Amino acid sequence: MDDLISRKAAIDSINRTFAKSLAKNRAIDCIKCLPAAHPTKARWERKYEDWRHQMSWLECSNCHSGQLEAYNFCPCCGAEMEDYDEHDEQASE
Ligand SMILES: [Zn+2]
Repeated sequence: MDDLISRKAAIDSINRTFAKSLAKNRAIDCIKCLPAAHPTKARWERKYEDWRHQMSWLECSNCHSGQLEAYNFCPCCGAEMEDYDEHDEQASE
Protein backbone atom coordinates (compact mmCIF):
# COMPACT_ATOMS: atom_id res chain seq x y z
CA MET A 1 0.00 0.00 0.00
CA ASP A 2 1.19 3.53 -0.76
CA ASP A 3 1.83 5.85 2.15
CA LEU A 4 -0.38 8.91 2.01
CA ILE A 5 1.58 12.03 2.95
CA SER A 6 1.04 15.74 2.52
CA ARG A 7 2.87 17.27 -0.45
CA LYS A 8 2.99 20.64 1.38
CA ALA A 9 4.43 19.03 4.55
CA ALA A 10 7.15 17.28 2.53
CA ILE A 11 8.16 20.53 0.80
CA ASP A 12 8.07 22.45 4.11
CA SER A 13 10.31 19.79 5.68
CA ILE A 14 12.87 20.08 2.85
CA ASN A 15 12.82 23.88 3.14
CA ARG A 16 13.44 23.69 6.91
CA THR A 17 16.14 21.02 6.67
CA PHE A 18 18.36 22.00 3.75
CA ALA A 19 20.19 25.21 2.84
CA LYS A 20 19.52 26.90 -0.49
CA SER A 21 20.99 24.86 -3.30
CA LEU A 22 20.24 23.58 -6.74
CA ALA A 23 19.74 20.08 -5.33
CA LYS A 24 17.14 21.36 -2.84
CA ASN A 25 15.19 23.10 -5.60
CA ARG A 26 15.38 19.96 -7.73
CA ALA A 27 14.02 17.82 -4.86
CA ILE A 28 11.10 20.23 -4.37
CA ASP A 29 10.38 20.18 -8.12
CA CYS A 30 10.33 16.37 -8.03
CA ILE A 31 7.82 16.33 -5.15
CA LYS A 32 5.61 18.85 -6.97
CA CYS A 33 5.52 16.58 -10.04
CA LEU A 34 4.56 13.36 -8.20
CA PRO A 35 1.02 12.13 -8.92
CA ALA A 36 -1.57 12.25 -6.16
CA ALA A 37 -2.16 8.94 -4.39
CA HIS A 38 -5.46 7.24 -4.97
CA PRO A 39 -6.55 5.44 -1.79
CA THR A 40 -8.07 2.02 -2.18
CA LYS A 41 -11.86 1.97 -1.94
CA ALA A 42 -13.56 -0.70 0.13
CA ARG A 43 -16.79 -1.23 2.04
CA TRP A 44 -17.89 -2.63 5.40
CA GLU A 45 -19.67 -5.97 5.22
CA ARG A 46 -21.69 -7.25 8.18
CA LYS A 47 -20.54 -10.73 9.31
CA TYR A 48 -22.23 -13.00 11.85
CA GLU A 49 -20.71 -15.48 14.26
CA ASP A 50 -23.60 -17.94 14.10
CA TRP A 51 -26.91 -18.67 12.40
CA ARG A 52 -28.88 -16.83 15.11
CA HIS A 53 -27.23 -13.52 14.10
CA GLN A 54 -26.68 -12.54 17.74
CA MET A 55 -22.96 -11.71 17.44
CA SER A 56 -21.76 -9.62 14.53
CA TRP A 57 -18.92 -7.42 13.36
CA LEU A 58 -17.99 -5.41 10.29
CA GLU A 59 -15.41 -6.81 7.89
CA CYS A 60 -13.29 -4.74 5.50
CA SER A 61 -13.86 -5.94 1.90
CA ASN A 62 -10.19 -5.18 1.09
CA CYS A 63 -8.19 -6.82 3.91
CA HIS A 64 -10.96 -8.79 5.70
CA SER A 65 -10.05 -7.40 9.13
CA GLY A 66 -12.90 -7.18 11.62
CA GLN A 67 -14.08 -4.02 13.40
CA LEU A 68 -16.95 -3.28 15.74
CA GLU A 69 -17.55 0.25 14.39
CA ALA A 70 -17.85 1.61 10.85
CA TYR A 71 -14.93 4.00 10.44
CA ASN A 72 -14.43 6.17 7.34
CA PHE A 73 -11.10 4.39 6.77
CA CYS A 74 -10.08 0.82 7.57
CA PRO A 75 -7.67 1.05 10.54
CA CYS A 76 -5.78 -2.04 9.29
CA CYS A 77 -5.19 -1.39 5.58
CA GLY A 78 -6.08 2.31 5.23
CA ALA A 79 -8.73 1.74 2.54
CA GLU A 80 -11.24 4.55 2.16
CA MET A 81 -14.66 3.19 2.99
CA GLU A 82 -17.75 3.82 0.96
CA ASP A 83 -20.65 5.22 2.94
CA TYR A 84 -21.96 2.68 5.40
CA ASP A 85 -25.48 3.09 6.73
CA GLU A 86 -26.58 0.59 9.39
CA HIS A 87 -30.23 1.51 8.80
CA ASP A 88 -30.06 0.70 5.07
CA GLU A 89 -28.52 -2.67 5.92
CA GLN A 90 -31.32 -3.54 8.38
CA ALA A 91 -34.02 -2.45 5.91
CA SER A 92 -32.72 -4.81 3.22
CA GLU A 93 -32.71 -7.91 5.49
ZN1 LIG B 1 -8.98 -3.10 5.46
